[in-house]
Amino acid sequence: MTALAAFARIRDLRLRPFRCPGCGPSLLLRLGGDEMQVRCLRCRGTPVHLSLLAALATHVGRLAAIDAYELSTTGAVLRHLQRHCRSVATSEYLDGVPPGGSRNGIRCEDVQQLSFADRSFDLCTSTEVFEHVPDDRAGLRELHRVLRPGGRLLLTVPMSGQAATVERARRDGPRVEHLLPPAYHGDRLNGPGSVLVYRDYGRDIVARAHDAGFREALLWTPPLAFAGHRRAVLVATRD
Ligand SMILES: [Zn+2]
Repeated sequence: MTALAAFARIRDLRLRPFRCPGCGPSLLLRLGGDEMQVRCLRCRGTPVHLSLLAALATHVGRLAAIDAYELSTTGAVLRHLQRHCRSVATSEYLDGVPPGGSRNGIRCEDVQQLSFADRSFDLCTSTEVFEHVPDDRAGLRELHRVLRPGGRLLLTVPMSGQAATVERARRDGPRVEHLLPPAYHGDRLNGPGSVLVYRDYGRDIVARAHDAGFREALLWTPPLAFAGHRRAVLVATRD
């Protein structure tokens, strides 16, 4: 690393006290301008996690009597739910494992066809999953199905800032048709650049939640940003 690059890194580093919506009084660490370079020092939440935790505090409140389902097996949101909820189900999508099955102790679920019974949960949470789901409308319908009346879905996806969602790819059986040049994100299980992005979401994700059966749905943005970053959270309520 050149002396100039080292200087740039030190200049980018910031540590300031803040009230974390998940873990309370803490320090916010900023290592650089990217969203992934900002973390709560205590719970290690990124601005995406912190935005969802802020939505949780605002729209759900007390968690002690809540059965939750988080669509991953890691991260600051999951750790928060595990600390405060009555129960928390977790899963990952694992290629080659049927829904409800498991590999290395990790439950596999395909959100387009969940193996959970109707009305199993009071809360479903998901961060940065739905842009990778081929049929997201089926996924939203399934989350509606497994929620109890009054239950809430809190979900983040990368948002384009545009009104309309742009489909980048679609699946026809095993075949993927690319409508735009393929874009990929990394994930923890499969490594960087491994997971196809099916769409760039716009604000009409709210309409998709309505179409899936959620009567109330809105995009909620935290009032304060986290070192300049915050994410709109879809908050959808089952009747
Ligand atoms: Zn925190």
